[in-house]
Amino acid sequence: MTHKAPTFTSDHLIRLSGPIEHDNIVNGYGLRAVIWTQGCFSHCRGCQNPETWDPAGGFEVDIEYIKEKLRSFKGQSGLTFCGGEPFLQPKVCKAIADWAREELGWNIWSFSGYTYEQIKEYGGDAWEFLKSLDALIDGPFILAERDLTMKFRGSRNQRLLHLRHGEITEIE
Ligand code: SF4
Repeated sequence: MTHKAPTFTSDHLIRLSGPIEHDNIVNGYGLRAVIWTQGCFSHCRGCQNPETWDPAGGFEVDIEYIKEKLRSFKGQSGLTFCGGEPFLQPKVCKAIADWAREELGWNIWSFSGYTYEQIKEYGGDAWEFLKSLDALIDGPFILAERDLTMKFRGSRNQRLLHLRHGEITEIE
């Protein structure tokens, strides 16, 4: 991985940059809950959320709080992890993803400033989290490749990858 960042290894605490959303339609198909994670080492020029970069910023919550919130949202079809960089907290994100799929029947998406290939190479908990996803929007935001017409993405290098058990089934 380009950034061999120290990842948070907790499987029950997650550091967030903002409140959990619901009824979101801009971070994936359908009505979605969104978890905004804190911490990012990519530091893309033109990033819209630089306040999410500090890995010690934001606030920490227990996974039980997350479950309670997600359970209270009605009519959602999925959950998206946004950041910040969700892959800095892969263990707890995977635990939430698996729970939301099993208990709520939701599909699970995540954004990452890392590419699919980098995450695969990195392996470990990051790869395990990726394997629990239905879709990944990958790669850093590159200002020179900015394209406001793309679905759910800000720059042309970013891909919307549909996944099954970690394998790419379709690229949008
Ligand atoms: S990966 Fe996302 S959150 Fe991180 S710096 Fe780039 S645009 Fe910002």
